[in-house]
This record gives sequence, C-alpha cells and structure tokens, in this order.
Amino acid sequence: MPLEIVTIPCLSDNYAFLAHDAASGETAVIDIPEAAPILDALKARGWELSHILITHHHWDHIGGVNEVLAAYPGARVVGAKADYGRLPPLHQAVEEGDSVVIGDEVGTVIDVSGHTVGHIAYHFPETGAVFTADSLMALGCGRVFEGTKPQMWDSLSKLAALPPETLVCSGHEYTQANGRFAITIEPDNPALISRIEAIDAARAAGEPTVPSRLSLELDTNPFLRANVASIQRQLNMQGADPVDVFAEIRTRKDSF
Ligand code: ZN
Ligand code: FE
Repeated sequence: MPLEIVTIPCLSDNYAFLAHDAASGETAVIDIPEAAPILDALKARGWELSHILITHHHWDHIGGVNEVLAAYPGARVVGAKADYGRLPPLHQAVEEGDSVVIGDEVGTVIDVSGHTVGHIAYHFPETGAVFTADSLMALGCGRVFEGTKPQMWDSLSKLAALPPETLVCSGHEYTQANGRFAITIEPDNPALISRIEAIDAARAAGEPTVPSRLSLELDTNPFLRANVASIQRQLNMQGADPVDVFAEIRTRKDSF
C-alpha cells in the first residue's frame, strides 16, 4: 500500500507534507515550518505522528518542530548527520543511502546539498514520491547559499534520475515566479508554455502547484535542462559542459 500524502500550506508560501501508512497507522511529517497547520491536519484525520523528517536547517522548515514534538513526544526526529549541530536533537542522523522506514515502506535518503550543505531529500520508491524542499522545486531550484553550483547540479542530477512518474513534493509555492524566469531561458518550449498557463489558472483558483510530476519538471524546469541543445543555443553556450550551463542559468535567476 502506498503512503497517503497530504500537502499542508504553512506560513506565507511554504509546504509541509504528511505521509501516512494506513496499515500500521504510522505518520511522518516532512518539515515543520510552523506547528499549528500540522497539528490541525493530524487532528482532523485522527492520525498519530510517528516521525518528523527534516530536510535542512532553515527556520522556515524547522520552526515548528519543538512545538509539534511537545504534542507528540513519541515522534522520532530524523535529519542529516552533516547538520547535527544546527537541527533540533535527532533520534536518527542520516546520510546518503540511509533508510527511513514508515510502516513497511523503506525510504532512501539522498544528499542534495547546494542550497545548504547537509540538505537531504527523502525518496519513497513504492509510493513514488520524493520530498525535496529547497533543492528541486516546481519549475525551479533553491538558491545556492552554502554549497557550490556544481554540487547543486550534481544534486539535481540525482533527483532527475528517479523514475519520471515520481511526485516531487517541494517546499515552496514559488512556481508562478519561477515560470516568469523559465520562459526567458526557453521561450519556445511548448510544454513550458502550456505549463505556465496551467500554473496561472491554478493560482487564480487559489490551488497549489505543488507537488508536481518529475516528468513535467524534466520537460519544463530549466534547472534540469542544462544539457538540452535548444537551451544551450539560447544562452550561446552550444556544446558547453552542463555544469557551466546550469551555473549560468542559476546566476541569471539570482538577479532576475
Ligand atoms: Zn531553505
Ligand atoms: Fe525554504
């Protein structure tokens, strides 16, 4: 049985997620920007929190951890070993390749450093979902604050290699603004043009654009497409190393 995933809007433009295993009753929350929406979502479903999975140390992803822990003191806190000193106390400190088990589904930790060093993603292959927070985002990627651009490209490349039907559960509703930038990099991409129309319609109706399908990201997200010839031509970087093309796209976005 796949995990049931619930998207929870938090703060002004953050997302947290619940991942619930009906058979065992175990429920994980992925990131806690603030406590109240998480506590409400659990209570509304009658779910008991068993795991808190942290992606990275930024306050808008961990700000509500202590308050939620106070309500569910039995929850097991999981986060990156590399971030041990700047996360709430961890019951399980993980690194690339480690397993996180919810019910009987085994998730895998992927190191996606770049936005921060120690940023991790959680991939649940049976459910077909990956929790990426500020690494791969809908039609974008996180700003490279602590790591290097080559490191970010490497991280995104690992996510891009997951099965294309994977649901990308990312951390922010930045998609509309990301679209305004993406179209400057690839103005003639029909998949991008129709995605932007769909995003505008969703946002006008007050609907989230997260999560998104990895196949759609592969077709439209410029940060996954640094190896595509038409983008390289658009940037006058034909035949360049995709790392350098990615770095150029990320630099342009930083000042967009
Ligand atoms: Zn962040
Ligand atoms: Fe964030």
